[in-house]
Amino acid sequence: MSKTQHDLQTTYAPNKGWSHFVLYTEPERGIVTSGLHAAATFEQPTRYVKEWLSRLRECEPNPLHTLLVENSKIPSLFHPCVYEDRESPSAIAEDGCVCHQTFMDPEFGLPVVAHHYRTVSGNIENWTYRTFAPAGLRAGESFASMIIDGGAYIWIRTSSGLLSIIPEGRASGYSVGYNGGGPTALASYIRQLIETDGRDTRPLDRAYDEQPDRNLLAWTSSKAATATQELTLADLRRIQRG
Ligand SMILES: [Zn+2]
Repeated sequence: MSKTQHDLQTTYAPNKGWSHFVLYTEPERGIVTSGLHAAATFEQPTRYVKEWLSRLRECEPNPLHTLLVENSKIPSLFHPCVYEDRESPSAIAEDGCVCHQTFMDPEFGLPVVAHHYRTVSGNIENWTYRTFAPAGLRAGESFASMIIDGGAYIWIRTSSGLLSIIPEGRASGYSVGYNGGGPTALASYIRQLIETDGRDTRPLDRAYDEQPDRNLLAWTSSKAATATQELTLADLRRIQRG
């Protein structure tokens, strides 16, 4: 009997149906999480968030979902919502709810946990979605545009029109509209996209460039970058030229 050693394949290919996922652990502190993929959280139902949500599929909880909740909440992944069972262990007084529901993104193979928060009587009710950013776009696809979504979320539209959470590693953490690490990391990632004509969409190995592109950084740090907008490679190049 022989075994074949696969190269680490961390971007999902739907036609293959599998990918590798690397764990990071600090055993003495009970921490187990993703080693390569950064976590991403969505609280606002923007139109891009809704587009992403519309393709998610409900599924049974699996070990990847357990990485997206606190250890003590793992059992709640298996509890029904109050709307399905008023006596669910996650229901409160048969009307409120703090359940977790599990999904998967069929395009990127990533686990998604939806957290339901509903007060008794329903005065406050919302859903928060947690998942992992992909470790790059899918093989054969490249960058078509970057979407700044309400200054809160950043997406990439791929060359096939698919909406993807911006690929992000554990070291980075992109954001816009202030002077700091998040805008520097985003400026560094945009520089990589420009220099590779949108082909290299993997997160940078390091958190950000030591000497980031001045014009890209000025833009990612600016208020103008916080408006909802969709930017092609040509738009990003224009920003880089200043
Ligand atoms: Zn619920």
